[in-house]
Amino acid sequence: MTPEKLAFENQKLEKRLCREVGRAIVDYNMIGEGDRVMVCLSGGKDSYGLLDILMKLQKRAPVNFELIAVNLDQKQPGFPAHILPEYLSKLGIKFHIETQDTYSIVKEKIEPGKTMCSLCSRLRRGILYRVARELGATKIALGHHRDDMLQTLFLNMFFGGKLKGMPAKLVSDNGEFMVIRPLAYVPEKDLIRWAEHRQFPIIPCTLCGSQENLQRKQVGNLLRDWDKQFPGRLENMLHALQNVVPSHLMDRSLHPFQTLQTTGAPVEDGDLAFDEEPLVAPAPAADADAEEVNVRPRATVIPIAATT
Ligand code: SF4
Repeated sequence: MTPEKLAFENQKLEKRLCREVGRAIVDYNMIGEGDRVMVCLSGGKDSYGLLDILMKLQKRAPVNFELIAVNLDQKQPGFPAHILPEYLSKLGIKFHIETQDTYSIVKEKIEPGKTMCSLCSRLRRGILYRVARELGATKIALGHHRDDMLQTLFLNMFFGGKLKGMPAKLVSDNGEFMVIRPLAYVPEKDLIRWAEHRQFPIIPCTLCGSQENLQRKQVGNLLRDWDKQFPGRLENMLHALQNVVPSHLMDRSLHPFQTLQTTGAPVEDGDLAFDEEPLVAPAPAADADAEEVNVRPRATVIPIAATT
Protein backbone atom coordinates (compact mmCIF):
# COMPACT_ATOMS: atom_id res chain seq x y z
CA MET A 1 0.00 0.00 0.00
CA THR A 2 1.37 3.42 -0.89
CA PRO A 3 1.89 5.89 1.98
CA GLU A 4 -0.88 8.08 0.49
CA LYS A 5 -3.33 5.19 0.39
CA LEU A 6 -2.40 4.16 3.94
CA ALA A 7 -2.92 7.70 5.21
CA PHE A 8 -6.31 7.79 3.49
CA GLU A 9 -7.33 4.43 4.99
CA ASN A 10 -6.25 5.55 8.47
CA GLN A 11 -8.25 8.73 8.13
CA LYS A 12 -11.31 6.71 7.14
CA LEU A 13 -10.73 4.40 10.09
CA GLU A 14 -10.51 7.33 12.50
CA LYS A 15 -13.78 8.73 11.20
CA ARG A 16 -15.44 5.35 11.48
CA LEU A 17 -14.23 4.83 15.05
CA CYS A 18 -15.39 8.29 16.10
CA ARG A 19 -18.72 7.74 14.41
CA GLU A 20 -19.36 4.34 15.96
CA VAL A 21 -18.28 5.39 19.46
CA GLY A 22 -20.33 8.58 19.16
CA ARG A 23 -23.33 6.57 17.99
CA ALA A 24 -23.13 4.16 20.93
CA ILE A 25 -22.77 7.06 23.37
CA VAL A 26 -25.87 8.71 21.96
CA ASP A 27 -27.92 5.53 21.58
CA TYR A 28 -27.40 4.54 25.19
CA ASN A 29 -27.11 8.03 26.68
CA MET A 30 -23.72 7.11 28.06
CA ILE A 31 -22.16 10.50 28.72
CA GLY A 32 -23.82 13.76 29.64
CA GLU A 33 -22.98 17.28 30.76
CA GLY A 34 -20.65 17.36 33.75
CA ASP A 35 -19.83 13.67 33.79
CA ARG A 36 -16.50 12.59 35.17
CA VAL A 37 -15.63 9.44 33.25
CA MET A 38 -13.10 7.05 34.68
CA VAL A 39 -11.53 5.21 31.74
CA CYS A 40 -10.09 1.87 32.81
CA LEU A 41 -6.79 1.36 31.06
CA SER A 42 -5.17 -2.08 31.08
CA GLY A 43 -2.41 -1.39 28.60
CA GLY A 44 -4.14 -3.51 25.93
CA LYS A 45 -5.14 -2.27 22.46
CA ASP A 46 -8.83 -1.93 23.33
CA SER A 47 -8.50 0.36 26.32
CA TYR A 48 -5.85 2.48 24.56
CA GLY A 49 -8.24 2.81 21.63
CA LEU A 50 -11.11 3.72 23.93
CA LEU A 51 -9.18 6.50 25.63
CA ASP A 52 -7.84 7.80 22.33
CA ILE A 53 -11.26 8.03 20.70
CA LEU A 54 -12.95 9.49 23.79
CA MET A 55 -10.30 12.22 23.87
CA LYS A 56 -11.04 13.06 20.24
CA LEU A 57 -14.79 13.16 20.87
CA GLN A 58 -14.33 15.22 24.03
CA LYS A 59 -12.81 18.05 21.97
CA ARG A 60 -15.80 18.33 19.67
CA ALA A 61 -18.68 17.27 21.93
CA PRO A 62 -21.35 19.86 22.69
CA VAL A 63 -21.33 18.71 26.32
CA ASN A 64 -18.51 19.10 28.80
CA PHE A 65 -17.22 15.98 30.42
CA GLU A 66 -14.02 15.01 32.11
CA LEU A 67 -11.82 11.98 31.44
CA ILE A 68 -9.58 10.34 34.02
CA ALA A 69 -7.51 7.36 32.96
CA VAL A 70 -7.02 4.75 35.65
CA ASN A 71 -4.72 1.78 35.61
CA LEU A 72 -4.48 -0.89 38.24
CA ASP A 73 -0.95 -2.21 38.64
CA GLN A 74 -1.60 -5.67 40.06
CA LYS A 75 2.08 -6.34 40.59
CA GLN A 76 2.26 -9.08 38.05
CA PRO A 77 5.84 -10.22 37.47
CA GLY A 78 7.50 -8.18 34.77
CA PHE A 79 4.74 -5.53 34.59
CA PRO A 80 6.45 -2.53 33.00
CA ALA A 81 5.12 0.05 35.47
CA HIS A 82 6.73 3.02 33.70
CA ILE A 83 4.93 2.61 30.35
CA LEU A 84 1.46 3.93 31.20
CA PRO A 85 2.56 6.92 33.35
CA GLU A 86 4.97 7.97 30.59
CA TYR A 87 2.34 7.58 27.87
CA LEU A 88 -0.39 9.36 29.85
CA SER A 89 1.92 12.21 30.91
CA LYS A 90 2.73 12.82 27.24
CA LEU A 91 -1.00 12.91 26.46
CA GLY A 92 -1.47 15.53 29.15
CA ILE A 93 -4.54 13.79 30.52
CA LYS A 94 -5.48 13.36 34.17
CA PHE A 95 -4.60 9.88 35.34
CA HIS A 96 -4.23 7.71 38.38
CA ILE A 97 -2.19 4.54 38.77
CA GLU A 98 -3.43 2.36 41.59
CA THR A 99 -0.89 -0.15 42.84
CA GLN A 100 -2.30 -3.17 44.63
CA ASP A 101 -0.58 -6.52 44.80
CA THR A 102 -3.57 -8.69 43.91
CA TYR A 103 -1.20 -11.04 42.09
CA SER A 104 0.28 -12.35 45.38
CA ILE A 105 -3.17 -12.73 46.93
CA VAL A 106 -4.45 -14.73 43.96
CA LYS A 107 -1.32 -16.89 43.84
CA GLU A 108 -1.63 -17.62 47.53
CA LYS A 109 -5.35 -18.46 47.48
CA ILE A 110 -5.70 -20.43 44.23
CA GLU A 111 -4.21 -23.89 43.87
CA PRO A 112 -1.59 -24.18 41.12
CA GLY A 113 -3.15 -25.17 37.80
CA LYS A 114 -6.61 -23.75 38.70
CA THR A 115 -7.88 -20.66 36.93
CA MET A 116 -7.12 -17.46 38.77
CA CYS A 117 -9.34 -15.15 36.76
CA SER A 118 -12.50 -15.14 38.83
CA LEU A 119 -10.78 -14.16 42.11
CA CYS A 120 -8.46 -11.79 40.27
CA SER A 121 -11.29 -9.97 38.53
CA ARG A 122 -13.36 -9.82 41.72
CA LEU A 123 -10.49 -8.17 43.56
CA ARG A 124 -9.89 -5.83 40.64
CA ARG A 125 -13.54 -4.83 40.51
CA GLY A 126 -13.60 -3.95 44.21
CA ILE A 127 -10.47 -1.85 43.89
CA LEU A 128 -11.72 -0.03 40.80
CA TYR A 129 -15.01 0.83 42.52
CA ARG A 130 -13.11 2.26 45.47
CA VAL A 131 -10.88 4.30 43.14
CA ALA A 132 -13.93 5.53 41.22
CA ARG A 133 -15.49 6.62 44.51
CA GLU A 134 -12.32 8.42 45.60
CA LEU A 135 -12.02 10.17 42.24
CA GLY A 136 -15.67 11.20 42.25
CA ALA A 137 -16.27 9.43 38.94
CA THR A 138 -19.85 9.40 37.67
CA LYS A 139 -19.20 6.82 34.95
CA ILE A 140 -16.78 3.92 34.55
CA ALA A 141 -15.82 3.31 30.92
CA LEU A 142 -14.57 -0.14 29.87
CA GLY A 143 -12.90 -1.12 26.61
CA HIS A 144 -15.08 -4.08 25.61
CA HIS A 145 -15.90 -4.03 21.91
CA ARG A 146 -18.53 -5.54 19.61
CA ASP A 147 -16.78 -8.90 19.34
CA ASP A 148 -16.50 -9.19 23.13
CA MET A 149 -20.25 -8.66 23.31
CA LEU A 150 -21.01 -11.32 20.73
CA GLN A 151 -18.58 -13.76 22.34
CA THR A 152 -20.29 -13.24 25.68
CA LEU A 153 -23.69 -13.88 24.11
CA PHE A 154 -22.50 -17.22 22.72
CA LEU A 155 -20.70 -18.24 25.90
CA ASN A 156 -23.80 -17.55 27.97
CA MET A 157 -25.89 -19.60 25.54
CA PHE A 158 -23.44 -22.49 25.35
CA PHE A 159 -22.45 -22.71 28.99
CA GLY A 160 -24.83 -20.56 31.02
CA GLY A 161 -28.19 -21.51 29.51
CA LYS A 162 -29.09 -17.85 29.18
CA LEU A 163 -29.75 -15.50 26.33
CA LYS A 164 -27.57 -12.81 27.83
CA GLY A 165 -24.85 -10.67 26.32
CA MET A 166 -22.66 -7.91 27.65
CA PRO A 167 -24.52 -4.63 28.16
CA ALA A 168 -23.49 -1.36 26.55
CA LYS A 169 -24.51 0.38 29.76
CA LEU A 170 -25.51 -0.99 33.14
CA VAL A 171 -25.43 -0.09 36.80
CA SER A 172 -22.52 -1.76 38.60
CA ASP A 173 -23.27 -4.83 40.70
CA ASN A 174 -22.90 -2.81 43.91
CA GLY A 175 -25.47 -0.34 42.58
CA GLU A 176 -23.11 2.60 42.87
CA PHE A 177 -21.75 3.34 39.40
CA MET A 178 -22.89 3.53 35.82
CA VAL A 179 -20.67 1.25 33.77
CA ILE A 180 -20.46 2.15 30.07
CA ARG A 181 -18.92 0.41 27.06
CA PRO A 182 -18.52 3.06 24.37
CA LEU A 183 -16.81 0.58 21.99
CA ALA A 184 -19.98 -1.54 21.86
CA TYR A 185 -20.38 -1.00 18.10
CA VAL A 186 -16.69 -1.22 17.21
CA PRO A 187 -15.34 -4.41 15.58
CA GLU A 188 -12.15 -5.74 17.11
CA LYS A 189 -10.36 -5.71 13.75
CA ASP A 190 -10.72 -1.91 13.64
CA LEU A 191 -9.14 -1.62 17.09
CA ILE A 192 -6.25 -3.83 16.00
CA ARG A 193 -5.60 -1.59 12.99
CA TRP A 194 -5.99 1.57 15.06
CA ALA A 195 -3.48 0.30 17.66
CA GLU A 196 -0.98 -0.39 14.88
CA HIS A 197 -1.51 3.01 13.35
CA ARG A 198 -1.24 4.86 16.66
CA GLN A 199 1.62 2.62 17.85
CA PHE A 200 0.22 2.27 21.33
CA PRO A 201 2.80 0.92 23.80
CA ILE A 202 0.93 -2.34 24.37
CA ILE A 203 1.57 -4.18 27.61
CA PRO A 204 1.28 -7.96 27.19
CA CYS A 205 -1.73 -9.48 28.94
CA THR A 206 -0.09 -12.79 29.77
CA LEU A 207 2.08 -11.57 32.63
CA CYS A 208 -0.08 -13.25 35.26
CA GLY A 209 0.65 -16.63 33.66
CA SER A 210 -3.02 -17.61 33.79
CA GLN A 211 -4.35 -19.98 31.14
CA GLU A 212 -6.25 -18.32 28.35
CA ASN A 213 -9.99 -18.92 28.55
CA LEU A 214 -10.21 -21.70 25.98
CA GLN A 215 -13.93 -21.42 25.39
CA ARG A 216 -13.75 -17.67 24.81
CA LYS A 217 -10.87 -18.24 22.43
CA GLN A 218 -12.81 -20.85 20.46
CA VAL A 219 -15.88 -18.65 20.18
CA GLY A 220 -13.62 -15.76 19.12
CA ASN A 221 -12.14 -17.93 16.35
CA LEU A 222 -15.63 -18.96 15.24
CA LEU A 223 -16.71 -15.33 14.97
CA ARG A 224 -13.56 -14.36 13.08
CA ASP A 225 -14.09 -17.23 10.60
CA TRP A 226 -17.70 -16.17 10.06
CA ASP A 227 -16.64 -12.60 9.54
CA LYS A 228 -14.28 -13.70 6.77
CA GLN A 229 -16.67 -16.13 5.13
CA PHE A 230 -19.89 -14.18 5.52
CA PRO A 231 -19.23 -10.44 5.58
CA GLY A 232 -21.97 -8.60 7.46
CA ARG A 233 -22.92 -11.52 9.69
CA LEU A 234 -21.42 -10.05 12.86
CA GLU A 235 -23.06 -6.69 12.14
CA ASN A 236 -26.40 -8.49 11.82
CA MET A 237 -25.79 -10.32 15.07
CA LEU A 238 -25.14 -7.06 16.89
CA HIS A 239 -28.26 -5.65 15.30
CA ALA A 240 -30.19 -8.69 16.57
CA LEU A 241 -29.17 -7.83 20.12
CA GLN A 242 -30.94 -4.51 19.64
CA ASN A 243 -34.06 -6.04 18.09
CA VAL A 244 -35.38 -8.61 20.51
CA VAL A 245 -38.81 -10.12 19.79
CA PRO A 246 -39.96 -11.69 23.08
CA SER A 247 -43.06 -13.28 21.50
CA HIS A 248 -40.76 -15.36 19.28
CA LEU A 249 -38.61 -16.59 22.12
CA MET A 250 -39.73 -18.81 24.99
CA ASP A 251 -39.25 -16.73 28.12
CA ARG A 252 -42.60 -16.81 29.93
CA SER A 253 -41.61 -13.82 32.02
CA LEU A 254 -41.22 -11.65 28.92
CA HIS A 255 -44.37 -12.65 27.03
CA PRO A 256 -47.74 -13.75 28.48
CA PHE A 257 -47.83 -17.18 26.79
CA GLN A 258 -49.98 -18.63 29.58
CA THR A 259 -52.80 -16.12 29.17
CA LEU A 260 -52.50 -15.43 25.45
CA GLN A 261 -55.87 -14.92 23.70
CA THR A 262 -56.85 -14.76 20.06
CA THR A 263 -58.46 -11.51 18.93
CA GLY A 264 -59.71 -12.36 15.43
CA ALA A 265 -57.86 -9.35 14.05
CA PRO A 266 -54.59 -9.61 12.09
CA VAL A 267 -51.58 -9.43 14.37
CA GLU A 268 -48.41 -7.77 13.27
CA ASP A 269 -45.61 -10.27 13.79
CA GLY A 270 -48.17 -13.03 14.44
CA ASP A 271 -47.34 -16.68 13.80
CA LEU A 272 -46.89 -17.62 10.13
CA ALA A 273 -47.70 -21.28 10.83
CA PHE A 274 -45.95 -23.39 8.19
CA ASP A 275 -44.40 -20.49 6.31
CA GLU A 276 -40.79 -19.71 6.89
CA GLU A 277 -40.04 -16.34 8.44
CA PRO A 278 -38.80 -14.02 5.70
CA LEU A 279 -35.16 -13.21 6.46
CA VAL A 280 -34.77 -9.52 5.85
CA ALA A 281 -31.38 -8.18 6.76
CA PRO A 282 -31.43 -4.73 8.34
CA ALA A 283 -30.53 -1.90 6.01
CA PRO A 284 -26.78 -1.37 6.11
CA ALA A 285 -25.69 1.75 7.95
CA ALA A 286 -25.26 4.56 5.47
CA ASP A 287 -21.67 4.83 4.35
CA ALA A 288 -21.06 7.63 6.71
CA ASP A 289 -17.30 7.69 6.51
CA ALA A 290 -18.08 11.13 5.19
CA GLU A 291 -20.32 11.91 8.12
CA GLU A 292 -19.55 12.01 11.81
CA VAL A 293 -21.72 11.60 14.84
CA ASN A 294 -20.87 13.54 17.92
CA VAL A 295 -21.82 13.15 21.52
CA ARG A 296 -25.11 15.00 21.74
CA PRO A 297 -26.45 16.79 24.79
CA ARG A 298 -28.40 14.54 27.11
CA ALA A 299 -31.65 16.37 26.47
CA THR A 300 -31.66 15.43 22.78
CA VAL A 301 -31.13 11.73 23.36
CA ILE A 302 -34.07 9.41 22.85
CA PRO A 303 -34.04 7.14 25.89
CA ILE A 304 -34.29 3.79 24.15
CA ALA A 305 -32.95 2.16 27.30
CA ALA A 306 -36.38 2.79 28.83
CA THR A 307 -37.73 -0.11 26.81
CA THR A 308 -35.40 -2.63 28.40
S1 SF4 B 1 -5.88 -13.23 32.84
FE1 SF4 B 1 -4.60 -12.85 34.64
S2 SF4 B 1 -4.84 -10.65 35.04
FE2 SF4 B 1 -6.52 -11.25 33.70
S3 SF4 B 1 -8.20 -11.77 35.08
FE3 SF4 B 1 -7.11 -13.68 34.66
S4 SF4 B 1 -5.65 -13.87 36.33
FE4 SF4 B 1 -6.33 -11.74 36.31
